[in-house]
Amino acid sequence: MSVDPSAAAQRLLAELLRFKTVNPPGAERPAQEHLAAYLRDAGFECSLLAAEPERPNLVARLRGELPGPTLCYLGHVDTVLADPREWRHDPFGGELIDGFLWGRGAIDMKSQVAAEAAAAAELARAGWRPRRGELLIVSVVDEETGGELGAQWITREHAEEVRCDMLINEGAGELFEVEGARCYGLCCAEKGVFRFTLTTSGVAAHASLPALGENALLKMAPLLARFAERSISYLPSPQSEALLAALGEKAGDPAPLLARLRAADERLAAIFEPLFGITFAPTRITASEKINVIPSRAELKVDCRVPPGGGASDVEAAVAQILGPAQGPEGERYRLQFTEQMPANASPVQSELADAIAGWLARADPGARLVPVMLAGFSDSRHFRAAFPDCVAYGFFPQRHQTLLEAAPLVHGADERIDVRDLAFAAELYRDLALAVLGSASR
Ligand SMILES: [Zn+2]
Repeated sequence: MSVDPSAAAQRLLAELLRFKTVNPPGAERPAQEHLAAYLRDAGFECSLLAAEPERPNLVARLRGELPGPTLCYLGHVDTVLADPREWRHDPFGGELIDGFLWGRGAIDMKSQVAAEAAAAAELARAGWRPRRGELLIVSVVDEETGGELGAQWITREHAEEVRCDMLINEGAGELFEVEGARCYGLCCAEKGVFRFTLTTSGVAAHASLPALGENALLKMAPLLARFAERSISYLPSPQSEALLAALGEKAGDPAPLLARLRAADERLAAIFEPLFGITFAPTRITASEKINVIPSRAELKVDCRVPPGGGASDVEAAVAQILGPAQGPEGERYRLQFTEQMPANASPVQSELADAIAGWLARADPGARLVPVMLAGFSDSRHFRAAFPDCVAYGFFPQRHQTLLEAAPLVHGADERIDVRDLAFAAELYRDLALAVLGSASR
């Protein structure tokens, strides 16, 4: 079908950027109603489902002729905050300046919402209907603070409305180059979160006579220094092995690839290294509540991310390797207690959906490679993978003009903007993928 969704995507994104959906408080209703009206007008069945009245989720459906798979395009319309004093242009203006649409959410992720909705709506408007299965557009609220009212709520309370076999969400897709090879990441997995508290103990005393006590904070200092020297412990996963293979490296050792990435750009290595292991980031420390009391207890909070397959025992083993054993000759050196344990989530690297995306990329950017990657953080995909274990979910929003290194600092940063050529590029993918996966009804 000769449908060009690029103008519609650009118009829709500019409109979405002008709705202020900073979360908290979110207040996504006007943006969601706007999207619903747009998709309803194109022929979609739309419903707004809300845990809180001002924060509805949108489910828009286009049914096919025959039974078949449900392909879901997922997005979120809430954003993080933006301080206009730090921006060169209005973060809520949706202005087109020098080929870029500016605004909070221009990358994360109103751009993808607009590209997905415009592709689907333009197809439907031109008379297209799936031959088999159905196309689902799901636009949720509340992603930026964890999805409690959005993806988590809707997959729990309205599972049948959003049940799907294949899902496209945010997570990867910006171009990066390794020794001249053009690569697009397909996000197949998201790391788990295993945050913990390290505690050291001592003996309280008056701070004017420090030698009468045992300072727990000073016992923490050498442990903290160890994390400065080593913040990652390698732990292979099927996804990281697939990434090595896709970039021509042999299994089990990320060092040669990381050296190549470092040679290309230091920041590429910084982005990719965490995908190969457990990372440790100490972020908070507390000790004495009073300046004149030697602390008998110090607590260090560590944010820790774990690849698929890893768990609490892997974290404990890695910590013991970095810090040494918890029990020393003179007694307990430290104690480790987990405060959060959320395992990684993943989809198979190989699937019909991955093949369809690779096929599209081969035509859209000949010679480029689709490589499986992982998100160091997490997204709403985890709620869908948990609710629908057979669902194959990927993060993919292809960008060829604005590269990974250009786009990454704009996410949650100042001057967030998207090259409108990339918005068109992505909208073409979402159009072609729907046609490839669902076929076209004969009419
Ligand atoms: Zn996002």
